[in-house]
Amino acid sequence: MVLAYRGSLYLRGVQLRGRSEKRGSPFIDGMSSKRIIALVFIPLVFISGGQAVANEYLQQRQRMIADIEADVRATARYINKKSFSVHVMQAMDTVPRHKFVRKRLRSMAYENRPLPIGYGQTISQPYIVALMTDLLQPQPEHRVLEIGTGSGYQAAVLSELVGHVYSIEIIEELGKSSTRRLSQLGYNNIETRIADGYTGWSEHAPFDGIIVTAAISHIPPPLVQQLKRGGRMVIPVGTRFQTQYLTLVEKDMQGAITTRQILPVVFVPFTGGH
Ligand code: SAH
Repeated sequence: MVLAYRGSLYLRGVQLRGRSEKRGSPFIDGMSSKRIIALVFIPLVFISGGQAVANEYLQQRQRMIADIEADVRATARYINKKSFSVHVMQAMDTVPRHKFVRKRLRSMAYENRPLPIGYGQTISQPYIVALMTDLLQPQPEHRVLEIGTGSGYQAAVLSELVGHVYSIEIIEELGKSSTRRLSQLGYNNIETRIADGYTGWSEHAPFDGIIVTAAISHIPPPLVQQLKRGGRMVIPVGTRFQTQYLTLVEKDMQGAITTRQILPVVFVPFTGGH
């Protein structure tokens, strides 16, 4: 990704830590003081190496959130906004990105940059994942199609925000490993398939949102057809040798299509026989 700004630490007052603050309090109400002491004591005894590592990732994830926010401000004139939806940022703050990269790259998992995932493919930069997700305007009842499962990270972020995610990957090994990973991590609203995504997934169409994570010279007509009226598609358009633009495609309630170039980007190429 070309826009690899490294932002300084900056946290807006958004309630991104809401989840952790909620923990515990309802259970403690009405308990005897002995029980409370026990509750406080047990975690101290069991704080282990694993816990310390988990806390380290939590901190790294918070730094990643700050880096994304800095990039949003740096690109505000392209994306026409100064911040992403709080829900999108909460999803970014929830998904364990380190579980989507190889073990030896885990220390870099939360850096605001793409990383290799094997087979010449990459997991996108966190800012780009957040931007594409935000552009889709995901809603809890939405059904979203992704082309290019890769590591499964983008699908996991979406699954935190919408009702169901369908994701297609063309490289069999990546498709298998991401499917295994997503199920081990408990993402049970994601359905995956190994195929050429150019023709979409007609059995589950139409979709409220479609997200394409590989660059293609044109917007595939089958995907436009499988987009619901009122739906949005986010897709990097361009080839390896041209400037690619992250493009927002909107289908209005009459079925008319409008497209808007958002930002110059660099994505791996869309492959297959189209
Ligand atoms: N969304 C992924 C990013 C993966 S990179 C993630 O979060 O990790 C883009 C992916 O698109 C690659 O895995 C590549 O194999 C896949 N891809 C490329 N052309 C495709 C096609 N025609 N159909 C389905 N997947 C495709």
